[in-house]
Amino acid sequence: MNNILVIAEAFQGKLRKTSLPAVTFAAQLAGKTGGEFSIALLGSGISGLAGELSSFGAKSVYIVDAPEFTNYLAGPWAKAVVTLADKIGATAIAGVADTFTRDLFPRVAARLNAGMVSEVTAIFGEGADVTFQRPMWAGNVLGTVKVQTPKSVFSVRGTDFEPPAAGATSPVQNVTLAYEDDGKAKYVKFEPTVSARPDLGEASVVISGGRGLKDKAGFGLLDEMADLLGAAIGATRAVVDAGICPNDLQVGQTGRVVAPQLYFAVGLSGAIQHVAGMKSSKVIVAINKDEEAPIFAVADYGLVGDVFKVIPELTEAIRKHKG
Ligand SMILES: Cc1cc2nc3c(=O)[nH]c(=O)nc-3n(C[C@H](O)[C@H](O)[C@H](O)COP(=O)(O)OP(=O)(O)OC[C@H]3O[C@@H](n4cnc5c(N)ncnc54)[C@H](O)[C@@H]3O)c2cc1C
Repeated sequence: MNNILVIAEAFQGKLRKTSLPAVTFAAQLAGKTGGEFSIALLGSGISGLAGELSSFGAKSVYIVDAPEFTNYLAGPWAKAVVTLADKIGATAIAGVADTFTRDLFPRVAARLNAGMVSEVTAIFGEGADVTFQRPMWAGNVLGTVKVQTPKSVFSVRGTDFEPPAAGATSPVQNVTLAYEDDGKAKYVKFEPTVSARPDLGEASVVISGGRGLKDKAGFGLLDEMADLLGAAIGATRAVVDAGICPNDLQVGQTGRVVAPQLYFAVGLSGAIQHVAGMKSSKVIVAINKDEEAPIFAVADYGLVGDVFKVIPELTEAIRKHKG
């Protein structure tokens, strides 16, 4: 029987809601394989967050709350996750595909001698025949894979699984785990990007700019529109590489994967590596002066025009509309 352990995430004392679609994945997998799932949260001062995890029908919610786990370090955290998995007899580990699991899960998989499937977008089949879909080659190919090892590790695309539905209340268990410092890395400091704008992964509106905006001043055209719409700003890799934007704004295969309600693609061509990070957006609006630009192929609404004319006009129209 599959016993799945979901690793939820907390950051600066708050539960990362973006980590919760992994619970939906685990519930689906448990249903298809006749198993059960639990949720674990590691950190410091996080006991108060247990209530936010205990209403999804998990068998248990495990809280590992200790000062040693204040700051994330891959080595000790991987050991802790594996110790917990062994303790509760977990046969599978799941989490949302993000920078945290990209760093942590391969180490967990290696320690568990488990096959790992990254960026799962769907589950097919039942019981022992269950297989997993994952995008490959920047989303141009969808692979279907089967795990051959007794244990497995999954990172799942948060944009392809809904937030978890309410279920039976789960018992909460506080667990003490040793923090085994392997001495290989030392936590030095964390320098957060301070922004009044919503996080790219959580915003319901994202406005992404590309090379068509030319430079920092051109990119700045997006600011007022973003402020009016309460939107997050994203960027293409071309813009990041040119030093116009910090790389935490990059959307795409090697950046963030987003699926907002509304995505504006402004002066960007729609390279496959960019589209891989935004094509699940509910409504896509593309603005580009080249009517042949590939972005129009994935857009719901397309506007052929010069961004330096269109964006100020659009911003003015939004401002008027908002009164
Ligand atoms: C391994 C790998 C990983 C990658 N990962 C990513 C990734 O994660 N994210 C990502 O974005 N890219 C990624 N890339 C890069 C990607 O291939 C493209 O090079 C990049 O997305 C192009 O950025 P762009 O659309 O801003 O620029 P361009 O492709 O140069 O497009 C600029 C667009 O602006 C339009 N334009 C120009 N002037 C105006 C104007 N005045 N008004 C309106 N439109 C105008 C042009 O018509 C053009 O369509 C990756 C590449 C590789 C090889």
